Amino acid sequence: MLIKAKEKITKNYDVIVIGSGLGGMTLANKMAKDGRKVLLLEAHNKLGGFATWFYREKKKHVFDISLHGFPFGMKKTCRKYWNKEIADHIVQIKKVKFTNPQYTIESEFTQEDFTTKLVNHFQIPLETVNAFYDYIQGMNFYDDQSMTNRELFQKFFPDRNDVVRFLMEPIVYANGSTLDDPAITYGIVFSNFMKKGVWTFKGGTDVIIKMMREELLNNNVDIKMHAKVEKIIVKDGKACGVAFKDQEVFAKAIVSNGNLHNTIFKMVGSEHFSADYIEKAKKVRMNSSSCQVYIGLKTGETIPFIGDLVFTSTHPSFDTDALMDLNITSRTFSVYYPEGRPYDEIPRCAIVSSTNAHYDDWNNLSDEDYQAEKEKMIKETIDSLENYLPNIREQIDFIDAATPRTVERYTHHYKGSSFGTKFEGLEISTKMHEELPGLYHAGSVGIIMSGWLGAANYGVIQSNNIESYLLDMEKQNSNQNINVEREAHVQL
Ligand SMILES: Cc1cc2nc3c(=O)[nH]c(=O)nc-3n(C[C@H](O)[C@H](O)[C@H](O)COP(=O)(O)OP(=O)(O)OC[C@H]3O[C@@H](n4cnc5c(N)ncnc54)[C@H](O)[C@@H]3O)c2cc1C
Repeated sequence: MLIKAKEKITKNYDVIVIGSGLGGMTLANKMAKDGRKVLLLEAHNKLGGFATWFYREKKKHVFDISLHGFPFGMKKTCRKYWNKEIADHIVQIKKVKFTNPQYTIESEFTQEDFTTKLVNHFQIPLETVNAFYDYIQGMNFYDDQSMTNRELFQKFFPDRNDVVRFLMEPIVYANGSTLDDPAITYGIVFSNFMKKGVWTFKGGTDVIIKMMREELLNNNVDIKMHAKVEKIIVKDGKACGVAFKDQEVFAKAIVSNGNLHNTIFKMVGSEHFSADYIEKAKKVRMNSSSCQVYIGLKTGETIPFIGDLVFTSTHPSFDTDALMDLNITSRTFSVYYPEGRPYDEIPRCAIVSSTNAHYDDWNNLSDEDYQAEKEKMIKETIDSLENYLPNIREQIDFIDAATPRTVERYTHHYKGSSFGTKFEGLEISTKMHEELPGLYHAGSVGIIMSGWLGAANYGVIQSNNIESYLLDMEKQNSNQNINVEREAHVQL
């Protein structure tokens, strides 16, 4: 049921989910399908979190924020935990293009294609390429996490900055990782992508979220939007409810799909956790944020096929600091052609340019400098796009930009983080219920549990943990009831 803004909730639930990102929604849907009473609360006026879109000029233009590409696994996850119709809309991206001073390459982003490029273009021996694949595909959570990405690449491709760029640049774009992050984060994400290429949802984010919303409602999830949870209620050492606006709602378990930092320090309060846990939580680093430029073309204007995803950079070499610098040299263009993103009756193209960014670089600007930087970014994005689409300037009807400040404002993510926390956040997130029974976290953490697939899968993992908790609780309650009945019988 969709609960109206002014309606008060009087029911108690099995689970309250705070936040409707892909993690929160997948968790809510699975638990509701399994017969649990679920309430989904979302601060925003629409579901989806980062899986979102916006319209401009009376819906003449539509722009997707994070629908650029995900691994094939998303199809399986959607079929299993959502429905076949959603899974059937997931299609493979035709062409990924890389262009920078070191090389220009087109790829299908499959293992076979990567091998061809590494051997033929970069002249790497086939045995080395295969040894690299074997190594990263054998990585798992329990491996030694001390090896960095830098050390991994040095081990297999010593001093080959061009090869590192080819293998790592798309992953940096996809999750903000750096050469100093644990190699396991790269290995798992890259192997996932490489297995079967890059995939997308045909129809756009508005369509997938509408389908997910219908599925949630069909499975009897209660949904309330405009409901920003201010506090998670703790009683007798257990999380048991939430407070928002002027009401409190109670449940057996609470799960936050919000930012890890905000969950611990704003919604719960450090007094409810051990000193050791809080010390570690304080040290968790946020991942990088993003800038985007949204370009809508005039009615009837078409463009040639230049690739679905075009990774561009003018920086002479691969450098993860340069990828996030305020002085932008790298842009990834997601090109939405009318066939893949049918929107209007009139075929229309849109282009979204994305760049990873440091929150502080943008947040520390005065309002005047901020506006000037935004305008500079827009101008330079058009200049860059002209290299691939020479007539683009005349074809543009609408253009606007978002920065880390925009990300923070719309998603409430601490420091506008686009990809949750760095790897150390995973331990804090997964151990939350051990610290505070009844409280779970299913939001982007540790790179592996972020992105469309990672977030959805983390929702599934946490739904299983909550189910075990609820079953234990029910078993204990039924044992207590038996004992009470026995005692009453003995007294008689
Ligand atoms: C620019 C950009 C490009 C991206 N590109 C890709 C890509 O190509 N491929 C890919 O796989 N991933 C991409 N991602 C990442 C991906 O979109 C996210 O990792 C994923 O959608 C995060 O899902 P989540 O479940 O962690 O929740 P989020 O999307 O973070 O959503 C959390 C939700 O919780 C709500 N919330 C927070 N606090 C509260 C509160 N107190 N009360 C109520 N509600 C609250 C928020 O409003 C939000 O709706 C991109 C991200 C960005 C920013």
